[in-house]
Amino acid sequence: MGSAVRPRPRGATGTVWAVIPAAGRGERMGAKKQDLRLGGRPLLALTLGVFETTPAVAGVVVAVPREDVAGWRRRLARLRKVRAVVAGGAVRQASVAWGLAALPPGVEWVVVHDGVRPFVTRRLLETVIAEARAWGAATAALPLAETVKRGVDGWVKETVEREGLWTIQTPQAFRLSLLREAHARAEAEQVRGTDDAVLVERLGHPVRLVTGLATNLKITRPEELELARALLRRAGRRGP
Ligand code: C5P
Repeated sequence: MGSAVRPRPRGATGTVWAVIPAAGRGERMGAKKQDLRLGGRPLLALTLGVFETTPAVAGVVVAVPREDVAGWRRRLARLRKVRAVVAGGAVRQASVAWGLAALPPGVEWVVVHDGVRPFVTRRLLETVIAEARAWGAATAALPLAETVKRGVDGWVKETVEREGLWTIQTPQAFRLSLLREAHARAEAEQVRGTDDAVLVERLGHPVRLVTGLATNLKITRPEELELARALLRRAGRRGP
């Protein structure tokens, strides 16, 4: 962002809650990804474990497929910070919106994180939250390392200038009122985004980029599950 944008120290305090969209039905995996087991635990439980041990996060709302709400309420009951398990929607954006609607009054900041990214770290979460507190909105992201081309019908159409391109991850953190406004506007204008930051960008609000982690995988395909298992083994935790 340009130097004209100044951090807002006013935001330095205020409660942070997390919304975890985990209501996907796993079309690319052939199974609901949040249910897959990694190191003997469901993927979603691993992800939530990081939030459980991050003091900056006061509470967590999880959105799961409607038919799984009761089951997940039971399975997650021992997690102190998980305060609500709600039914998600047909698309990720709707699941986040249901999660936002379930936040209690008085919450000022929200961090949104995919349920299928179990390798987020406490440090990355805290950095994204700190940057959001300073700027209003922040996202984890990685500068693009590979050459990018646009393809049409199996042929290269053009090479895209890589300079300045980032791949976007979660966590993403926002002032709650800003994210609610962004979702309301998107809903009114029937816009669908693949992340929450894009909805905030549409309001003309700057979003701070925070360098994420290559290991902060989104587990959406079988090969990513294999990678995740290897990462877990490397971390010395109990393998599957
Ligand atoms: O589908 P996508 O790769 O964007 O999924 C990212 C996250 O959003 C996953 O944790 C998935 O469970 C969640 N999601 C959701 N509701 C949907 C679709 C995806 O909560 N309808």
